[in-house]
Amino acid sequence: MSKKIFLDYKRCIGCKACEVACEMTHGEARIKVFEFPDLFTVPFNCRHCEKAPCMNVCPTGALFRDEDGAVAFDPLKCIGCLMCAVACPFGVPKLDEENKIMDKCDLCSDRRAEGKLPACVSACPTEALLYGDINEVLWNREGKIVANLKSSAEKGEGEKAYIVL
Ligand code: SF4
Ligand code: SF4
Repeated sequence: MSKKIFLDYKRCIGCKACEVACEMTHGEARIKVFEFPDLFTVPFNCRHCEKAPCMNVCPTGALFRDEDGAVAFDPLKCIGCLMCAVACPFGVPKLDEENKIMDKCDLCSDRRAEGKLPACVSACPTEALLYGDINEVLWNREGKIVANLKSSAEKGEGEKAYIVL
């Protein structure tokens, strides 16, 4: 099962440590925290879509699915055609103006290769951000798996909401 970053939004305190960690790791923050005053704060990032339009339109294969399920990026194959930026419904891929190639979240490929968590997840002081496959994340946090959540929902029992980042 592919691994993603999940947000337990009730734990987010809007401190932006995730943004800062991303900027320190990649030179520019790819995750952004949106603030809704008196309501909540929500970090937003590439969705690493299951059917990723960016990957589908990339003419050179610069965008590809890696072994953990992340939509990763090979800068050496990018020709800066901007097709991925046009195709992404969330406006995620951004042009690196200096090198004239695209730049996007790869869930910290280099860190994952060393067995580390994505930088934003590591930096979050409240563990609002969690990385793993959905059952791993739910089991560690709630002692439940997706099947249990579905049966609880069918019985009308309230459950915490998680957002896939
Ligand atoms: S580091 Fe965690 S608590 Fe802070 S803004 Fe990001 S998600 Fe929210
Ligand atoms: S860049 Fe956009 S289309 Fe591609 S995986 Fe991320 S959110 Fe999906």
